[in-house]
Amino acid sequence: MAYLINNDCISCGACAGECPVGAISEGESIFVVDPDTCIDCGACNSVCPVGAPNPQ
Ligand code: SF4
Ligand code: SF4
Repeated sequence: MAYLINNDCISCGACAGECPVGAISEGESIFVVDPDTCIDCGACNSVCPVGAPNPQ
């Protein structure tokens, strides 16, 4: 399992700086999680202003 960022993402970048394993990067229109790297810690959801990252 891994977290998935939905289309509510406003590309603020806050989550990328909080991810302990560097799994989040800027995609074409929204930020994206590398599911092979994500350890399901939930930090991205905690800092996201719009609640876009959630468990798949
Ligand atoms: Fe990174 Fe944790 Fe979010 Fe996975 S759940 S993308 S490890 S901050
Ligand atoms: Fe997108 Fe939320 Fe990450 Fe900001 S913190 S880049 S809105 S997923």
